[in-house]
Amino acid sequence: MNVNDVKVRQVLRRSYELDHGHYAVGIELQPYKLTGVVVGSDGVVMARSRRHLTVMESGEVVKRVAELAKNLVDDRLGCAFPRSRVCVGVQVGGPVDPDTGTVLHLVNGPDDHRHEKPPPYEWVDFPLGAELASMTGCATSVENDAHAFAAYEQSLGVGRGSTTFGVILVRDGVGAGMVVRGERISVPMEFGHLQVWQRGRICDCGMRGCIESQVGNRALTAVVKERTGRELDGLEAAIALADSNDAQAREAAAAFRKAGTSIARGIAMLLTTFGPTDVVVYAAEDLLDGGPGRRAANAFLHAMRKFPAHTFHISRDCHIVTKPLDAVRGAHGAALIALQSCFGVRLQPR
Ligand SMILES: [Zn+2]
Repeated sequence: MNVNDVKVRQVLRRSYELDHGHYAVGIELQPYKLTGVVVGSDGVVMARSRRHLTVMESGEVVKRVAELAKNLVDDRLGCAFPRSRVCVGVQVGGPVDPDTGTVLHLVNGPDDHRHEKPPPYEWVDFPLGAELASMTGCATSVENDAHAFAAYEQSLGVGRGSTTFGVILVRDGVGAGMVVRGERISVPMEFGHLQVWQRGRICDCGMRGCIESQVGNRALTAVVKERTGRELDGLEAAIALADSNDAQAREAAAAFRKAGTSIARGIAMLLTTFGPTDVVVYAAEDLLDGGPGRRAANAFLHAMRKFPAHTFHISRDCHIVTKPLDAVRGAHGAALIALQSCFGVRLQPR
């Protein structure tokens, strides 16, 4: 087959897909920010787009998500494209009920450690899926963000070489998802609230010693502030202090070491419970980018890699992969979940 034959086949396949195939819009909903992608049933991203949100009030967010989905479909597939062949998948950084598309709880942290605090918001039992479906005319799925990253990894990441693996997501808080024997486990996994310190800090949830009391952009910033007495405007400033020649730098680095140990203890629990061959840790690039002079990242990574010390002896063999958070993987994972739950397109390594 020559080059022209290949091109003709590609055009014919695309044309057939447009006439018969299914598509998904995936949307990552983060505080004051939306990222959207369109994927075909082959799981490949065809278009992407981002929007800032000025408010996080639930009704307004639904309108903006619906608008972004409509724009992506109209631009990529055409205004007249039948909505019966498009689904919408949304992922949010909080607990959800994927069966009903309900966001169980979504709130900004009690102290987000930025000088210009955004307005507070709190969603409780909000029917995001139903509202979006009625506004877009598309079947809709709603999932937790760590589960969306697990779906992405299952299809396009470590799932290519492993059928049982975990994904840990470190953002404002900490979440996790698991794929076991090729099936993504769609259950609430409150990984961030596993208790790993007996006399630890009080977590935002009210318990003591949770992983999330030490790890996540919010907790790490707070802990470095507590240890050093410095005013810090977010995680970047906390990392910069630990990496500097300041007299408090080593005290700041100790917070990153304890964060790494907290994740190591969490990894150990996943290993002892599920026996994954791989665990992927997604976090801010600054937290994973170790090397000379990178005291914060070095302390975090070094402590995290000591997970075997906390693991049952026959479960210690596990490969830890670190990946910096990028712009579209969460939205891409949400689209893959929607294709599966709305149109039965099975998630599989691609
Ligand atoms: Zn907690």
